[in-house]
Amino acid sequence: MEKQYIPIDLHCHSTHSDGSLSIREVLTLAKTNGAVYQAITDHDTVEGIAEARQTAKELGLNLIPGVEISVTWHNNTLVHIVGLGVDETNQVLVSELAKLRASRIERGKRIGDNLAKIGIPGAFAGALSLCDHPEALSRTHFSQWLVQEGHAKPGKAFEKYLAPGRPGYTAQTWASLENAVKWITESGGVAIIAHPGRYKFTRTKLIKLIEEFKSFGGSGIEVISSSHSIQDEANIAAICRLTGLVASVGSDFHQEESYRKIRPGRNKMLPLGTNPVFPLIGIEPNYYTFESQS
Ligand code: AMP
Ligand code: MN
Ligand code: MN
Ligand code: MN
Repeated sequence: MEKQYIPIDLHCHSTHSDGSLSIREVLTLAKTNGAVYQAITDHDTVEGIAEARQTAKELGLNLIPGVEISVTWHNNTLVHIVGLGVDETNQVLVSELAKLRASRIERGKRIGDNLAKIGIPGAFAGALSLCDHPEALSRTHFSQWLVQEGHAKPGKAFEKYLAPGRPGYTAQTWASLENAVKWITESGGVAIIAHPGRYKFTRTKLIKLIEEFKSFGGSGIEVISSSHSIQDEANIAAICRLTGLVASVGSDFHQEESYRKIRPGRNKMLPLGTNPVFPLIGIEPNYYTFESQS
Protein backbone atom coordinates (compact mmCIF):
# COMPACT_ATOMS: atom_id res chain seq x y z
CA MET A 1 0.00 0.00 0.00
CA GLU A 2 1.21 3.49 -0.77
CA LYS A 3 2.51 5.42 2.21
CA GLN A 4 0.27 8.25 3.32
CA TYR A 5 1.66 11.74 3.77
CA ILE A 6 0.50 14.96 5.35
CA PRO A 7 1.21 18.28 3.54
CA ILE A 8 3.04 19.69 6.57
CA ASP A 9 6.79 20.17 7.03
CA LEU A 10 8.06 21.78 10.23
CA HIS A 11 11.85 21.63 9.76
CA CYS A 12 13.71 22.83 6.66
CA HIS A 13 16.89 24.73 5.70
CA SER A 14 17.85 27.31 3.09
CA THR A 15 21.03 29.15 2.08
CA HIS A 16 20.53 31.31 5.18
CA SER A 17 22.23 28.39 6.96
CA ASP A 18 23.59 25.14 5.50
CA GLY A 19 20.90 24.35 2.96
CA SER A 20 21.83 24.63 -0.69
CA LEU A 21 18.57 26.10 -2.02
CA SER A 22 17.51 29.72 -1.63
CA ILE A 23 14.32 30.55 0.26
CA ARG A 24 12.46 30.86 -3.04
CA GLU A 25 13.87 27.61 -4.43
CA VAL A 26 13.11 25.57 -1.34
CA LEU A 27 9.59 26.95 -0.89
CA THR A 28 8.88 26.33 -4.59
CA LEU A 29 10.09 22.74 -4.23
CA ALA A 30 7.94 22.25 -1.12
CA LYS A 31 4.91 23.60 -2.98
CA THR A 32 5.62 21.23 -5.89
CA ASN A 33 5.68 18.38 -3.38
CA GLY A 34 2.22 19.38 -2.17
CA ALA A 35 3.03 21.42 0.94
CA VAL A 36 0.23 23.36 2.59
CA TYR A 37 2.22 24.34 5.71
CA GLN A 38 5.98 24.82 5.40
CA ALA A 39 8.41 25.95 8.08
CA ILE A 40 11.80 27.55 7.47
CA THR A 41 14.10 26.67 10.38
CA ASP A 42 17.62 27.81 9.59
CA HIS A 43 20.44 27.25 12.08
CA ASP A 44 20.75 30.13 14.55
CA THR A 45 19.01 32.72 12.38
CA VAL A 46 15.64 34.19 11.43
CA GLU A 47 17.12 36.39 8.70
CA GLY A 48 15.37 34.46 5.92
CA ILE A 49 11.90 34.72 7.43
CA ALA A 50 10.84 38.09 6.01
CA GLU A 51 11.60 36.92 2.48
CA ALA A 52 9.99 33.54 3.23
CA ARG A 53 6.75 35.20 4.34
CA GLN A 54 6.55 37.18 1.10
CA THR A 55 7.47 34.24 -1.13
CA ALA A 56 5.07 31.85 0.63
CA LYS A 57 2.28 34.34 0.08
CA GLU A 58 3.02 34.47 -3.64
CA LEU A 59 3.12 30.68 -3.86
CA GLY A 60 -0.06 30.15 -1.83
CA LEU A 61 1.75 28.38 1.02
CA ASN A 62 1.27 28.86 4.76
CA LEU A 63 4.67 29.78 6.19
CA ILE A 64 5.54 28.65 9.72
CA PRO A 65 8.33 31.06 10.77
CA GLY A 66 11.00 29.09 12.58
CA VAL A 67 14.59 28.66 13.72
CA GLU A 68 16.86 25.78 14.78
CA ILE A 69 19.04 26.83 17.70
CA SER A 70 22.36 25.10 18.46
CA VAL A 71 22.55 24.25 22.17
CA THR A 72 25.35 22.99 24.37
CA TRP A 73 23.71 20.89 27.05
CA HIS A 74 25.65 20.12 30.26
CA ASN A 75 28.99 21.51 29.02
CA ASN A 76 29.61 19.33 26.01
CA THR A 77 26.51 17.70 24.53
CA LEU A 78 25.20 19.19 21.28
CA VAL A 79 21.41 19.37 21.00
CA HIS A 80 19.29 21.23 18.44
CA ILE A 81 16.09 23.02 19.49
CA VAL A 82 13.59 24.05 16.84
CA GLY A 83 11.36 27.08 17.44
CA LEU A 84 8.08 27.21 15.51
CA GLY A 85 5.85 30.26 15.17
CA VAL A 86 8.51 32.68 16.40
CA ASP A 87 8.33 36.42 15.81
CA GLU A 88 11.37 37.15 13.65
CA THR A 89 11.35 40.80 14.72
CA ASN A 90 11.70 40.02 18.44
CA GLN A 91 14.70 42.04 19.63
CA VAL A 92 16.07 39.53 22.15
CA LEU A 93 15.77 36.65 19.70
CA VAL A 94 17.44 38.62 16.91
CA SER A 95 20.31 39.95 19.01
CA GLU A 96 21.07 36.68 20.79
CA LEU A 97 21.06 34.75 17.50
CA ALA A 98 23.42 37.35 16.03
CA LYS A 99 25.94 36.49 18.78
CA LEU A 100 25.72 32.77 18.00
CA ARG A 101 26.20 33.51 14.31
CA ALA A 102 29.28 35.63 14.93
CA SER A 103 30.80 32.74 16.88
CA ARG A 104 30.49 30.57 13.73
CA ILE A 105 33.15 32.67 12.00
CA GLU A 106 35.55 32.32 14.94
CA ARG A 107 34.95 28.58 15.07
CA GLY A 108 35.44 28.34 11.30
CA LYS A 109 38.92 29.87 11.67
CA ARG A 110 39.79 27.24 14.28
CA ILE A 111 38.53 24.44 12.02
CA GLY A 112 40.65 25.90 9.21
CA ASP A 113 43.74 26.04 11.48
CA ASN A 114 43.19 22.44 12.57
CA LEU A 115 42.94 21.24 8.98
CA ALA A 116 46.04 23.25 8.00
CA LYS A 117 47.98 21.41 10.74
CA ILE A 118 47.27 18.09 9.04
CA GLY A 119 48.30 19.40 5.62
CA ILE A 120 45.03 20.84 4.28
CA PRO A 121 45.52 24.62 3.91
CA GLY A 122 42.87 27.08 2.74
CA ALA A 123 39.82 25.40 4.24
CA PHE A 124 38.45 28.49 6.02
CA ALA A 125 38.49 30.64 2.87
CA GLY A 126 37.28 27.69 0.81
CA ALA A 127 34.31 26.91 3.06
CA LEU A 128 33.47 30.60 3.31
CA SER A 129 33.38 30.88 -0.49
CA LEU A 130 30.58 28.27 -0.52
CA CYS A 131 28.37 30.34 1.82
CA ASP A 132 25.79 32.80 0.54
CA HIS A 133 25.68 34.36 3.99
CA PRO A 134 29.14 34.32 5.65
CA GLU A 135 27.81 34.14 9.20
CA ALA A 136 26.03 30.91 8.26
CA LEU A 137 29.43 29.20 8.01
CA SER A 138 28.79 25.60 8.98
CA ARG A 139 30.64 22.31 9.16
CA THR A 140 28.44 21.43 6.17
CA HIS A 141 30.33 24.02 4.09
CA PHE A 142 33.67 22.59 5.22
CA SER A 143 32.39 19.16 4.28
CA GLN A 144 31.40 20.38 0.80
CA TRP A 145 34.79 22.06 0.29
CA LEU A 146 36.71 18.97 1.49
CA VAL A 147 34.80 16.81 -1.00
CA GLN A 148 35.21 19.35 -3.80
CA GLU A 149 38.98 19.45 -3.24
CA GLY A 150 39.24 15.68 -3.21
CA HIS A 151 40.13 15.32 0.48
CA ALA A 152 37.08 13.15 1.19
CA LYS A 153 34.59 11.05 -0.73
CA PRO A 154 31.00 12.41 -0.87
CA GLY A 155 29.29 11.84 2.47
CA LYS A 156 32.56 10.96 4.25
CA ALA A 157 34.03 14.33 5.31
CA PHE A 158 32.31 14.36 8.70
CA GLU A 159 33.58 10.98 9.80
CA LYS A 160 37.04 11.67 8.37
CA TYR A 161 37.58 15.28 9.53
CA LEU A 162 34.68 17.12 11.14
CA ALA A 163 32.95 14.93 13.73
CA PRO A 164 34.00 15.07 17.42
CA GLY A 165 37.36 13.39 17.86
CA ARG A 166 38.38 13.96 14.23
CA PRO A 167 41.29 16.32 13.34
CA GLY A 168 39.24 19.26 12.07
CA TYR A 169 36.86 19.28 15.01
CA THR A 170 36.93 22.05 17.58
CA ALA A 171 34.70 22.37 20.63
CA GLN A 172 32.17 25.17 20.57
CA THR A 173 29.87 26.50 23.28
CA TRP A 174 26.46 27.32 21.84
CA ALA A 175 23.35 28.57 23.66
CA SER A 176 22.22 27.04 26.95
CA LEU A 177 19.08 24.90 26.82
CA GLU A 178 17.35 27.35 29.13
CA ASN A 179 18.15 30.36 26.96
CA ALA A 180 17.22 28.67 23.69
CA VAL A 181 13.81 27.71 25.05
CA LYS A 182 13.36 31.17 26.59
CA TRP A 183 14.23 33.07 23.37
CA ILE A 184 11.77 30.90 21.43
CA THR A 185 8.85 31.04 23.85
CA GLU A 186 9.31 34.74 24.67
CA SER A 187 9.10 35.53 20.97
CA GLY A 188 5.77 33.69 20.78
CA GLY A 189 7.09 30.36 19.52
CA VAL A 190 6.81 26.73 20.54
CA ALA A 191 10.08 24.92 21.41
CA ILE A 192 10.69 21.45 20.00
CA ILE A 193 13.61 19.02 20.54
CA ALA A 194 14.97 18.32 17.04
CA HIS A 195 15.76 14.81 15.71
CA PRO A 196 16.30 13.07 19.08
CA GLY A 197 17.21 9.84 17.29
CA ARG A 198 20.45 11.45 16.11
CA TYR A 199 21.83 11.98 19.57
CA LYS A 200 22.11 8.25 20.35
CA PHE A 201 21.28 8.99 23.99
CA THR A 202 20.22 6.26 26.38
CA ARG A 203 16.53 6.39 27.25
CA THR A 204 17.44 7.71 30.71
CA LYS A 205 19.52 10.54 29.25
CA LEU A 206 16.80 11.48 26.76
CA ILE A 207 14.20 11.61 29.54
CA LYS A 208 16.56 13.79 31.60
CA LEU A 209 16.87 16.18 28.63
CA ILE A 210 13.09 16.23 28.24
CA GLU A 211 12.45 16.93 31.91
CA GLU A 212 14.87 19.87 31.91
CA PHE A 213 13.47 21.10 28.60
CA LYS A 214 9.91 20.99 29.98
CA SER A 215 10.95 22.79 33.16
CA PHE A 216 12.19 25.71 30.99
CA GLY A 217 8.93 25.83 29.01
CA GLY A 218 9.67 23.45 26.12
CA SER A 219 6.69 21.73 24.52
CA GLY A 220 7.51 19.17 21.88
CA ILE A 221 9.81 16.72 20.14
CA GLU A 222 10.25 15.52 16.58
CA VAL A 223 8.80 12.07 16.07
CA ILE A 224 8.95 12.06 12.27
CA SER A 225 12.36 13.20 10.96
CA SER A 226 14.56 12.18 8.07
CA SER A 227 17.12 11.15 10.67
CA HIS A 228 14.75 8.61 12.25
CA SER A 229 14.29 4.91 11.62
CA ILE A 230 10.85 3.33 12.04
CA GLN A 231 12.09 2.06 15.40
CA ASP A 232 13.11 5.62 16.42
CA GLU A 233 9.62 6.86 15.48
CA ALA A 234 7.98 4.21 17.67
CA ASN A 235 10.35 4.87 20.59
CA ILE A 236 9.90 8.63 20.48
CA ALA A 237 6.13 8.32 20.12
CA ALA A 238 6.10 6.23 23.30
CA ILE A 239 8.29 8.84 25.06
CA CYS A 240 5.82 11.55 23.97
CA ARG A 241 2.99 9.69 25.63
CA LEU A 242 5.08 9.14 28.77
CA THR A 243 6.32 12.74 29.14
CA GLY A 244 3.37 14.67 27.70
CA LEU A 245 5.39 16.36 24.95
CA VAL A 246 3.61 17.19 21.72
CA ALA A 247 4.84 15.52 18.53
CA SER A 248 6.33 17.27 15.48
CA VAL A 249 7.24 16.28 11.91
CA GLY A 250 10.10 17.61 9.77
CA SER A 251 12.01 16.76 6.64
CA ASP A 252 15.13 18.57 7.90
CA PHE A 253 15.73 19.13 4.20
CA HIS A 254 19.13 20.62 3.24
CA GLN A 255 19.85 19.72 -0.36
CA GLU A 256 18.78 17.48 -3.21
CA GLU A 257 21.67 15.03 -3.02
CA SER A 258 21.79 14.07 0.60
CA TYR A 259 21.99 11.26 3.08
CA ARG A 260 18.60 12.44 4.25
CA LYS A 261 15.76 10.87 2.35
CA ILE A 262 12.66 12.99 3.05
CA ARG A 263 11.72 15.62 0.46
CA PRO A 264 10.64 19.06 1.72
CA GLY A 265 6.94 19.83 1.91
CA ARG A 266 5.41 16.70 3.32
CA ASN A 267 5.90 14.10 6.03
CA LYS A 268 4.65 10.75 7.11
CA MET A 269 1.60 10.79 9.37
CA LEU A 270 2.20 10.77 13.12
CA PRO A 271 1.58 7.52 14.99
CA LEU A 272 -1.90 7.14 16.48
CA GLY A 273 -2.06 8.30 20.10
CA THR A 274 0.52 11.10 19.76
CA ASN A 275 -0.59 14.62 20.51
CA PRO A 276 0.50 16.80 17.56
CA VAL A 277 2.04 20.27 17.82
CA PHE A 278 -0.18 21.35 14.91
CA PRO A 279 -3.01 23.16 16.77
CA LEU A 280 -0.44 25.14 18.79
CA ILE A 281 0.87 26.76 15.60
CA GLY A 282 -2.42 27.32 13.84
CA ILE A 283 -2.51 24.27 11.56
CA GLU A 284 -6.06 23.27 10.74
CA PRO A 285 -7.17 19.71 11.58
CA ASN A 286 -8.45 18.89 8.11
CA TYR A 287 -4.83 18.80 6.90
CA TYR A 288 -3.76 15.89 9.07
CA THR A 289 -4.74 12.39 9.98
CA PHE A 290 -2.88 9.76 11.98
CA GLU A 291 -1.24 6.53 11.00
CA SER A 292 -3.79 3.77 11.58
CA GLN A 293 -2.76 0.79 13.65
CA SER A 294 -3.97 -1.77 11.09
P1 AMP B 1 27.40 23.04 12.57
O1 AMP B 1 26.11 23.58 13.13
O2 AMP B 1 28.14 24.03 11.75
O3 AMP B 1 28.25 22.35 13.59
O4 AMP B 1 27.01 21.94 11.49
C1 AMP B 1 26.13 20.92 11.83
C2 AMP B 1 25.40 20.50 10.57
O5 AMP B 1 26.17 19.55 9.87
C3 AMP B 1 24.10 19.80 10.90
O6 AMP B 1 23.06 20.73 10.95
C4 AMP B 1 23.92 18.86 9.74
O7 AMP B 1 23.27 19.54 8.69
C5 AMP B 1 25.33 18.57 9.30
N1 AMP B 1 25.83 17.26 9.77
C6 AMP B 1 26.05 16.89 11.05
N2 AMP B 1 26.55 15.63 11.09
C7 AMP B 1 26.64 15.21 9.80
C8 AMP B 1 27.09 14.02 9.16
N3 AMP B 1 27.55 12.99 9.87
N4 AMP B 1 27.04 13.97 7.81
C9 AMP B 1 26.60 15.01 7.09
N5 AMP B 1 26.15 16.17 7.62
C10 AMP B 1 26.17 16.27 8.96
MN1 MN C 1 22.24 21.51 9.09
MN1 MN D 1 19.71 19.69 13.47
MN1 MN E 1 18.00 20.97 10.77
